[in-house]
Amino acid sequence: MKVPFLDLRASYLELKAELDETIVRVLDSGWYVLGEEVDKFEANYAAYSEAAHCVGVGNGLEAIRLALLAMGLGPGDEVIVPSNTYIATWLAVSQCGATPVPVEPATGTFNIDPSKIEEAITSKTRAVIPVHLYGQPADLDPIIAVARRYGIFVLEDGAQAHGARYKGRRIGAHGDAVAWSFYPGKNLGAFGDAGAVTTDDPDLARRIRVLRNYGSERKYVNEVRGFNSRLDPIQAAALGVKLKYLDRWNQARRAIAQQYLSGLASSSLVLPKVDTNAEPVWHVFAVQSEDRNVFQVELAKSGIGTLIHYPIAPHLQEAYLDLGHGKGSFPLSEKIHDSVFSLPMYPQMDSEQVDAVIAACVAVKHRSA
Ligand SMILES: *Cc1c(COP(=O)(O)O)cnc(C)c1O
Repeated sequence: MKVPFLDLRASYLELKAELDETIVRVLDSGWYVLGEEVDKFEANYAAYSEAAHCVGVGNGLEAIRLALLAMGLGPGDEVIVPSNTYIATWLAVSQCGATPVPVEPATGTFNIDPSKIEEAITSKTRAVIPVHLYGQPADLDPIIAVARRYGIFVLEDGAQAHGARYKGRRIGAHGDAVAWSFYPGKNLGAFGDAGAVTTDDPDLARRIRVLRNYGSERKYVNEVRGFNSRLDPIQAAALGVKLKYLDRWNQARRAIAQQYLSGLASSSLVLPKVDTNAEPVWHVFAVQSEDRNVFQVELAKSGIGTLIHYPIAPHLQEAYLDLGHGKGSFPLSEKIHDSVFSLPMYPQMDSEQVDAVIAACVAVKHRSA
């Protein structure tokens, strides 16, 4: 039995008739930038994520960058970021001219350790970006509490956490703003690049709206030097269709995660831990093993796809060597990057496929024991 790591086409085929009709409707409308489709999706996504405002932008990286710029960040500022995250979180900080300051994760959940944030704060710190990695919300309340004490912004990176809840409330406006990616492989994915920012702050929302559109609210009147980073109406319309199915798809991911957690309990793999305050949406199911390579090779022989999220820690990437964080500076993150890999996870996976992955993982344990 073949089990691909991910099957993006499966969610298209599930909704093919509705998606095709929707996309043709936008083509037929003659309106191709911003407009009604974008407005409608923004309203629906704001409501879904329990936020007052949503601003659609070009992609997730831009969502983080525009939110930081709208918060007034620039050269000389510092932003606290997780030492283990997808590099986009760091790149957005750098694009503002600010410096990413890494903080290590809490062991078990992969998310930033709230108790280590205060010691990283300096007079230059302007914001902290908790990332809800792999679909599990970071422990937001203590993060927000320390940020409020020091007067710094909390921008959440929600790129992997569409629909997740923290203490019963959706990710969307716990902090000052949330940056979203709708990259095709995310839990809510477009048919190309797309992103958004949600917030309860009307001024912040307005500034992002202006920044995404040449620094202009009124056509040909430019109040700041803005960008062209707008959510595409075809993507917005397609995302609006998929949004109606997101809860069902996240529920399917939860069932798969439960099956993995119980089926792999006696395996040699280190399994992901769920924080009691968090209701994760399992963007990826990340496990850890010293023998990651053996697992990946053996699973591949059984036709099972795996990926590594992510193979190299951001501070060890060539792009960030100039920051001078050498090997050993962030040992928890480095250990995760050296041992983590992800098992297949997508809503249309059936339970026989999950069982096949479990059986293959358990067989590896027996072989290496
Ligand atoms: C995907 C992702 C991004 C970037 O989103 P893009 O739309 O690909 O630019 C940022 N942060 C995290 C954690 C992501 O997973």
